[in-house]
Amino acid sequence: MNSVLERRLAAMKGTEACLVFGSGYLANVGTIPALVGQADTILLDELSHACMYAGARLSGAEIHIFRHNDVEHARELIERAQGQVLVLTETVFSMDGDRAPLLELNALCEHSGAWLMTDDAHGLGILDAPNPAPIQMGTLSKAAGAYGGYVCGPAEVIDMLVSRARSFVYTTGLPAPVLAAAIRALDIMCEEPYRADRAKDHAALFCDLMRLPAPESVIVPVIVGEEARTMNISAALERDGYLVTAIRPPTVPKGTSRLRITFATGHTEADVRRLSETLNRLLQS
Ligand SMILES: *Cc1c(COP(=O)(O)O)cnc(C)c1O
Repeated sequence: MNSVLERRLAAMKGTEACLVFGSGYLANVGTIPALVGQADTILLDELSHACMYAGARLSGAEIHIFRHNDVEHARELIERAQGQVLVLTETVFSMDGDRAPLLELNALCEHSGAWLMTDDAHGLGILDAPNPAPIQMGTLSKAAGAYGGYVCGPAEVIDMLVSRARSFVYTTGLPAPVLAAAIRALDIMCEEPYRADRAKDHAALFCDLMRLPAPESVIVPVIVGEEARTMNISAALERDGYLVTAIRPPTVPKGTSRLRITFATGHTEADVRRLSETLNRLLQS
């Protein structure tokens, strides 16, 4: 059943092959050190997920952080880098729901011989635009509602991971019921695109009602600023039936505490309207 899921994912991503891992975290901490080592360089978008940082440290490569979505900064760092360069970023950033400039980053990598690897944890099932990155990891635990991680890429990369990614080789794979759930979830994503559209419509309506810029995904941040106030608003929303997490330092810089709102298919338009009214009231009080 593993290979069925791997074929499905590779077809969805338009890559030659795919390898399924026990989780997204395991996919990143196994893949990154298999690709590069001590003589090499890793460039990480500063807002990359903790498990990309973990994989980067495990690899022993020199690590440089580029400013969020700043392709020019990445270019400067690549020019000074030693060995093979691996550039790591997310398709949709987990905290703010914004997207990486993948076409520009991919062009930069192709031009300079660097490898681009993206983390699509929040993009699977949501983003329509094809991803140009040759190596694409992701998780089945977010929109797919199952469990497990994967890496899609060229057959020679995937073959190498099968024997060299330690978090694949030395740990148990996913149980069959989880694989079956993931396969079914991918079927539903492909057969019933209105589900993703509905979640995206909710995010768009919310941003419209809140006079926020149009959303780039189904994750919408509302910057509040002060930590205690953000926590209080999150608690008030919870009493009102809304699970909206407060994101605060050290996850985000001091003074930029925010509410992270994630829209889903199961929400209704009335939920979205009531949320914006409640939130506007709380923000004004
Ligand atoms: C959740 C997440 C992961 C980890 O995936 P798991 O399958 O939960 O281990 C990796 N990267 C990003 C960006 C995530 O949001």
